[in-house]
Amino acid sequence: MPLAFDHQTLGQRILFGASRAAENLALEVTERGAERIMVIASGSAAVVARGITANLPVEVFWEDVAQHVPIEVAHRARDSAAAHNIDLLVSVGGGSTTGLAKAIALTSGTPVISIPTTYAGSEATNVWGLTESARKTTGVDPRVLPATVIYDAELTRSLPVELSVASGLNAVAHCVDSLWAPRADPINAALAVDAIRALNGALRTIFHTPDDLAAREQALYGTYLAAVAFASAGSGMHHKICHVLGGRFALPHAETHATVLPYVLGFNASSAPRAADRIAAALGASDAVSGLVDLKESLNAPRALRDYGFAEGDIVEAALLCFEAIPASNPRAFTVGDIQELLHDAWEGRDPQASRKEPVHD
Ligand code: NAD
Repeated sequence: MPLAFDHQTLGQRILFGASRAAENLALEVTERGAERIMVIASGSAAVVARGITANLPVEVFWEDVAQHVPIEVAHRARDSAAAHNIDLLVSVGGGSTTGLAKAIALTSGTPVISIPTTYAGSEATNVWGLTESARKTTGVDPRVLPATVIYDAELTRSLPVELSVASGLNAVAHCVDSLWAPRADPINAALAVDAIRALNGALRTIFHTPDDLAAREQALYGTYLAAVAFASAGSGMHHKICHVLGGRFALPHAETHATVLPYVLGFNASSAPRAADRIAAALGASDAVSGLVDLKESLNAPRALRDYGFAEGDIVEAALLCFEAIPASNPRAFTVGDIQELLHDAWEGRDPQASRKEPVHD
């Protein structure tokens, strides 16, 4: 088979090392000559961020952060950054915190240094998201891509097991979807497969020993590869479904990803056999879906959408919205009825292996 593709790599500096966040950040600030920093961090990450930035020229310490970046919060943060003539944004936290830094960068062009403390992966993408009147809008803009990402596994040791599992499976979802998303290519696939391998091992260890630094490092490494693959490949069926569930029905981000993934994999696997084989191998399983189900079971991961506020009565509307959003390039052809069935299985938490349907015509 001839090999031909158009791959774009986003330019970022990655500084990776446990207990090195303060040192690596100081290095970046010096090299950039930053003089007026805005630090964005909330909750437990705020305490960590104060420690990391103690000796830096911090002008604003911003703790007003909310999930899915409400536009009102973005306006307030943008106004503060402008009023203080900020020349560098430093975010310390999960995807919500990175998201707010991106929202400021989107309108100001101020560079962002991201120090992630979850496995959301937003730090490695040029995708922004904002929520206005309960509607989430996303877009792609080079200004929001953090210039530098500083990974320090020490900062993730405090991430509770449940959040680690849901967030880590969100990273696995980046990998799986990037194997059949619209701009899927062999480079993304290589990154995604190694990320699945790293995340599979790391999450199993973290579940039993949340404090294991080596596993935390592997999880961050997998997170980064997964996000790079996803940023390059784009959103496939899985992300489009989760976007509808999160945006229209306000379901929690990471838990929704963790729940829906095996159903999408089950739906697509037989029409994407090469991808399925690679996922299975990366999971150390003979079959992709059973490998993913096994991983989820060993992590006691989120199982059913009804546990996260999704109502059975919303399935019909959700299926229609998903049908309109899912790329036509999905490896398996689909109807609104297929999506309705998939969502019903995910709502109920049916065994994804039992809910697998073989394609009839495709
Ligand atoms: P989050 O940032 O909302 O964090 C979840 C919770 O974990 C928060 O309560 C936070 O305070 C806590 N937390 C974070 N790090 C911690 C740590 N080390 N120890 C203890 N507690 C910690 O959730 P998330 O899953 O990281 O991110 C979800 C958001 O990111 C969503 O809005 C999603 O849309 C966005 N996202 C964007 C992209 C993108 O490319 N733009 C990619 C993935 C996710």
